[in-house]
Amino acid sequence: MPKIIHYRNKCIGCNSCVEQDPARWKINDEDGKSDLIGSIQKKNTWIAKIDYEELDRNKQAAKDCPVSIIKIIE
Ligand code: SF4
Repeated sequence: MPKIIHYRNKCIGCNSCVEQDPARWKINDEDGKSDLIGSIQKKNTWIAKIDYEELDRNKQAAKDCPVSIIKIIE
């Protein structure tokens, strides 16, 4: 099962990942950074297992993230 890893602390809240997959990403009202929906925090990273059906759009989110803080493990 693929995973998304989000290095959330460095997020600049640009909304690009939300545009790619609003079912997985949401801007947090309190700090303006994106939250990876369904993720679990491990130290400074947030990790979520995803379905293969979600892979392409999240690969695109990773590619488009201007600060390169979304990683995909297949
Ligand atoms: S694309 Fe990157 S910088 Fe922009 S909101 Fe998403 S994680 Fe944050």
